[in-house]
Amino acid sequence: MRLIEMEITRQDWKSMLCGCGGSAEHLARDLLQLAGKGPLQRPSHVSLEEHVWSPVILWEPAPAVTSVALAALADDVAPTAREWFLDLLQCVVAGEGTDWESAGRGLDLPELCRGLAVQGLWLLYEEVMSNRSPGAAGTAFEILGVVEPDRARLQRVREIAADWLPVCCRTGLCDDNLRVDR
Ligand SMILES: [Zn+2]
Ligand SMILES: [Zn+2]
Repeated sequence: MRLIEMEITRQDWKSMLCGCGGSAEHLARDLLQLAGKGPLQRPSHVSLEEHVWSPVILWEPAPAVTSVALAALADDVAPTAREWFLDLLQCVVAGEGTDWESAGRGLDLPELCRGLAVQGLWLLYEEVMSNRSPGAAGTAFEILGVVEPDRARLQRVREIAADWLPVCCRTGLCDDNLRVDR
């Protein structure tokens, strides 16, 4: 068993309420499919919009999905799967609100997800610096733009990676769209 499978099986999906209104149990299968560890044995895209995240709110499974996405980055997954997990991570850290039930239990899901993503700081920096693909480097940099408390370090990496970062990251254009006021 690999890291990604370990992290997926560790979560209690059944007890979480998914954005679709049912149990979040199906997310375990969806995440395995994204990683290429499902019955297809190759990465196959599945959207978790309206299940885990939406442009306005996050649902209960979002922190668990954040942990799985970080485990995927630490694992040896196919390049397409890496990019999907980075996209997913970006969607959850950009979350603005918390679903009604979770909020009622005092949870702030966007804050929880950003707190988890900060723990994967060096995975994200590694993704930027490795320059495996310009898209992945840009997405990782934009996630750091949201969660990195040390802005001077982010700026330094922006300069070092200037040759391959997308123009929005290089110029700081995406900072304004992504920075979360805290
Ligand atoms: Zn669902
Ligand atoms: Zn950018």
